Amino acid sequence: MLDQKPEACQPPTANNLFLVTTHKASENLNSELRLELQTLCYHAPMTETDCLFCKILAGPAAADVVYQDNRCVAVRDINPQAPTHLLVIPREHMESLDDASQKDESLLGHLLRIGARVANLQGHDSYRSVINSGSGAGQSVFHLHVHVLAGRSMTWPPG
Ligand code: AMP
Ligand code: ZN
Repeated sequence: MLDQKPEACQPPTANNLFLVTTHKASENLNSELRLELQTLCYHAPMTETDCLFCKILAGPAAADVVYQDNRCVAVRDINPQAPTHLLVIPREHMESLDDASQKDESLLGHLLRIGARVANLQGHDSYRSVINSGSGAGQSVFHLHVHVLAGRSMTWPPG
């Protein structure tokens, strides 16, 4: 039996999930700790199963897919703000650009390049690529994505 709960057994936060990994790597799990770890995972604030775009990527939610490869999918936005409005969505769940690390640089470049190529395929050589990061910047779906808007003249700065 554990004399006191480890830090990982405090109310769940993203930091606690990181601590779970530490415990798993450094200790033999007894049954009490294993139970706590399962609870933490269950209460994770945002999991792939909660995520609309993960549901689109996995199949249960419908979307108008215009392109896909092993790293991303491009779909038509359900509420288009331009004649062409696409979303380039990485297959890997990441809440926003704020969560991207150095290992994600190649993926981020891929998303931008695919957005450009898909806009070209839709007949556009002028387009705007946008990433909203955080609710204050207009992000409403917390799975990183690149908007690609085209087919009308654009103003600057954006609203
Ligand atoms: P953002 O506000 O930057 O997070 O962008 C989210 C975008 O997802 C918005 O432009 C929505 O119109 C779009 N959206 C929400 N649900 C769907 C859906 N089921 N299929 C396609 N686009 C969607
Ligand atoms: Zn997701």
